[in-house]
Amino acid sequence: MSQTVQTSVIESLKAPHHGPVPFSVEFFPPRDDAGEERLWRAVRIFERMHPAFVSMTYGAGGSTRERTARITGQLARETTLLPVGHLTAVNHSVAELRAVVGAFAAEGISNILALRGDPPGDPLGQWTRHPEGVEYAEELVRLVGTLGDFHVGVASFPEGHHSAPDLESDTAHLVSKLRAGADYSITQMFFEVDDYLRLRDRVVAADPEQGAKPIIPGIMPITSLASVRRMVELSGSQLPGWLDERLSAAAGPGEQEDRDAVREVGIDVATEMAQRLIAEGAPSLHFCSLNFARATGEVLQRLGMDVLVP
Ligand SMILES: Cc1cc2nc3c(=O)[nH]c(=O)nc-3n(C[C@H](O)[C@H](O)[C@H](O)COP(=O)(O)OP(=O)(O)OC[C@H]3O[C@@H](n4cnc5c(N)ncnc54)[C@H](O)[C@@H]3O)c2cc1C
Repeated sequence: MSQTVQTSVIESLKAPHHGPVPFSVEFFPPRDDAGEERLWRAVRIFERMHPAFVSMTYGAGGSTRERTARITGQLARETTLLPVGHLTAVNHSVAELRAVVGAFAAEGISNILALRGDPPGDPLGQWTRHPEGVEYAEELVRLVGTLGDFHVGVASFPEGHHSAPDLESDTAHLVSKLRAGADYSITQMFFEVDDYLRLRDRVVAADPEQGAKPIIPGIMPITSLASVRRMVELSGSQLPGWLDERLSAAAGPGEQEDRDAVREVGIDVATEMAQRLIAEGAPSLHFCSLNFARATGEVLQRLGMDVLVP
């Protein structure tokens, strides 16, 4: 079904890079013309920073199926970036999943991040698979593997997935996804570096061969206290007390948070995390950009990368 026209994420991480470690950027498919303009502005700025790859999310409930494939394809054709398309199993039968993978292939995309997705409507609710779909991401990894020469990544969770009964079983399921054919994982955003390091240790202890595959830490430079609180809550996690205190002090007592002060703390924290992750041997850094280039650019600059921040 597919023809491999892209290099793999793994190859790209090994290629010469411009900073202390390679980095990558996550985008989401915009909903309107203004959003599209903002995305492309960010894309062009990031292009000059030479990320190892960029990824495009797949809307909750499979809602952005056409847009994700189309924009990921545009990134492949019209930029120098290496795009990875996210794909979730939500609301899709196996036949539909095959069709989406086919659409990625038709767009020249051979790097796919295979995810189960969250229950539509309530991300923390009870998961029910599509009657003709797949139950877990592991099955999606296998399915994509049968459809062509794709390079597949999966999600990992330093604090454990919110639905997992314990860290050990969640780690075992991550290892199963890697054994099923995934080459790497990207973590959910987190704020305690120790959680990432412990996840890495658990994977290595569970299966040294799979433990050698990159676990790419997901970092979000915080620019708004209200939105990070919302995002963290939706992922079934919480802000560590020390971070909430630092951000709340910057936000100030008023109803309107002091966005400049919060942003400054957010960039400090992301930089401190990145420095520690690099010192601890993280293979690269994956930034949740929210389709803006500036905050990530500032972190990269503070890490010593020679990037121009607009
Ligand atoms: C980097 C990253 C990118 C993401 N991008 C998107 C996106 O673009 N669109 C979107 O909608 N969501 C996205 N998500 C969110 C993700 O879809 C949800 O967190 C989802 O609930 C879990 O997906 P998963 O692929 O990890 O699922 P799975 O690996 O299937 O795990 C889901 C749960 O089932 C358990 N489990 C797994 N396998 C088994 C098994 N064999 N037996 C029993 N239990 C099992 C796991 O421990 C976990 O608790 C992303 C998450 C991350 C970290």
